[in-house]
Amino acid sequence: MANRVRYAGISKTVWSLVKNFGIRSYPVDLDGLARSLDRTGTNVKFQNYSAYAEFKNEPIDRVEEELGSQDGVTAYIPEASLYIIFINDRHQSKGRANWTKAHEIGHVALGHYSAMEPVLLARRGIDDKKYGALEREADWFAKLLLCHPLVLSGCGVRTAGEIAKICGISRDAAENRLGEVLRPLRAYNRHDRMISDHFEGFVKSFASKVCVRCRNGFTMAGSGFCPVCGGGELERMVGEFVIYSRVRIDGNHKAVRCPRCDNEEVRGEGDYCQICGVNLVNRCFAARDDFGHPDAGVCGELAEGDARYCCRCGNMTTFGHHGLLKGWAEEMREKCGGTPLDEMPDDDVPF
Ligand SMILES: [Zn+2]
Ligand SMILES: [Zn+2]
Ligand SMILES: [Zn+2]
Ligand SMILES: [Zn+2]
Repeated sequence: MANRVRYAGISKTVWSLVKNFGIRSYPVDLDGLARSLDRTGTNVKFQNYSAYAEFKNEPIDRVEEELGSQDGVTAYIPEASLYIIFINDRHQSKGRANWTKAHEIGHVALGHYSAMEPVLLARRGIDDKKYGALEREADWFAKLLLCHPLVLSGCGVRTAGEIAKICGISRDAAENRLGEVLRPLRAYNRHDRMISDHFEGFVKSFASKVCVRCRNGFTMAGSGFCPVCGGGELERMVGEFVIYSRVRIDGNHKAVRCPRCDNEEVRGEGDYCQICGVNLVNRCFAARDDFGHPDAGVCGELAEGDARYCCRCGNMTTFGHHGLLKGWAEEMREKCGGTPLDEMPDDDVPF
């Protein structure tokens, strides 16, 4: 067996598991996965250290000593094609135990036992380098199964807290994943992309947000601000939402006709309307210096046709700044009746 981590093979194995067992969302149900594996003839059972101690009528310290791991260990019984994965439930949070379960399933699914079953269990008679490679393989497997960075980056996840919550892993493990979620490795291969496509529905539902203030519903991975009102309080989309008026734009985010003077001859080079001179490309609005150059440090993000504000930084967009879209508060009043919370006078004088 190789001393190096076989990344491509791990992606392929995880892909076949998520495909065959219909895993399309996080957190992955590992007990369900074990039951599914059972049905295919690979008998995988989880057993907590505490339950095992009770079964053997032994103190848990003894069991811990006997099994010899802070996290967990797998016993392979070849005659029954049975893998008992012992999980140390005394020293780990649920999130960490999930990682341990996935890691141990990794050893099974990657065929580590068929090749070196007595070795792994006892950690004896094998050089550290080889053992280390198998450990890294099991961890890489756990990562691709529980919290694939391509899926999470599609969800627009930005913090370790979010990763821990979405995937049911420990805060520490989430912390370790964050960098790669924000900037996925180029090393991911076609099976990784197939895994990420398989989670498309989950990614879409996750990336759909609704603004608490104006009830605008939208899907934009990574957005921190509502493009309609610029509000920063967004929640996952459930129930009612409002669709706001928009300017039709082309693939370059340029209006297909001028929203100010209704000029239809806007094709061709340049961002500006040749008739009225307004800026037709919707993007984060840059304050200009005396020479007409955008200020340094402006984010420049392109924006959708209904965006009055930049969803990345919350600044006004070109369309918002030039008043090319109706004010959201007015539109909300028309569409929903009532007064948006922000518009309520502070000193509410009773009559
Ligand atoms: Zn291991
Ligand atoms: Zn809003
Ligand atoms: Zn115009
Ligand atoms: Zn911006």
